[in-house]
Amino acid sequence: MRPRILSTILATALLAGQVSAQPEEPAPAALPQARPAAVDADFPFPTSPFQPDLTPGYVLIEGDIQIRVDQYMALMAGADATFGAVTYWFNGIVPYDFVTTGGGAVSQANQNIAIQAMGMIAARAGITFRAATGSDVNRIRFQNSSFNNSPVGLQGGTQIINIVSWGTPIIICHEVYHSLGFWHEQSRADRNTYVTINANNICGSGISTPCTAGSGPTQCCLCIDNAGLCTSCAFNFNFQPGTLTYGLYDFDSFMHYGPNAFSCNGLPTIAVNPPWTNTIGQRDHFSYFDEITCRGLYPFNTDRWLDRNHTGTIGATFLLPLNNPNILTVASTIPPGATLFVKFGNTYSGVGTYTNPVTIIAPAGTVTIGN
Ligand SMILES: [Zn+2]
Repeated sequence: MRPRILSTILATALLAGQVSAQPEEPAPAALPQARPAAVDADFPFPTSPFQPDLTPGYVLIEGDIQIRVDQYMALMAGADATFGAVTYWFNGIVPYDFVTTGGGAVSQANQNIAIQAMGMIAARAGITFRAATGSDVNRIRFQNSSFNNSPVGLQGGTQIINIVSWGTPIIICHEVYHSLGFWHEQSRADRNTYVTINANNICGSGISTPCTAGSGPTQCCLCIDNAGLCTSCAFNFNFQPGTLTYGLYDFDSFMHYGPNAFSCNGLPTIAVNPPWTNTIGQRDHFSYFDEITCRGLYPFNTDRWLDRNHTGTIGATFLLPLNNPNILTVASTIPPGATLFVKFGNTYSGVGTYTNPVTIIAPAGTVTIGN
């Protein structure tokens, strides 16, 4: 969010993209497809004077998501975001470094906190965060800022993660999740079943909240465009139709907005639909599906996925699962000690004696094993 938005961080995540299991690293030149002719070899877009510390050539949406200027222009032209698909980090390896000079320099103490936050993620998924070396083309770079924000997924080159909330490692995790490929939870295509977006309470979207500069009760300028002018914050509530979702809508995700995100009048912009009464917008823990989905996209070495209804390429991964209807057969052929995630609630055969020690989990619902 933000073209200067001034809100701190909201968040949640959606999962996104498609990834093949362990894609080989393409040549750097093949990365991000849609950048226009370069003005600068590394950062082709001019940096907005209103968003000076983002990854060069990027602007902010949804309060804390950096997107490329061309994507932003399409969004502002009315296209419902079509850039949900993301690129994941190859083999789960994420090089990082820190800004060490100037106003964005990250103190040693805060560097340690960022490393702690990355460790919290690495404990839950097969991701290796390591200090970048000179040969790393792609990396995340932490920068001290007045806001928290990040691009979504691997961008190619150096991508900046801005942090102000150094005292809250889970917020750093939220931003790193964006860089790993997660959108906000409320961007899911099915979100209207679970929450209602109250457009009249969104800054600049209702009659009572004209989008003009100022701080009076009828004024609101939480969002500005790339020219620095006040604009409606409604675009922050778009769907991301290109994204991938998994599991039930996750109210508890640390990638979900809070109820008053971009509110100009103090009334909720996001209301949980009955009969649900869940709290949204927590920023103190990984939800169950925050963990499962990240581990799906970035698996540990012995994680395997099974979905008997899967068609197409078989990879034993979250996105390309095994499709054998017999769990016993599957369990006998995967590594000892493996965890087998069974994707959907179907009936599988496989009652019998399992001699290969594996853990079987059905994260998104009940699975029946019969014969
Ligand atoms: Zn976010």
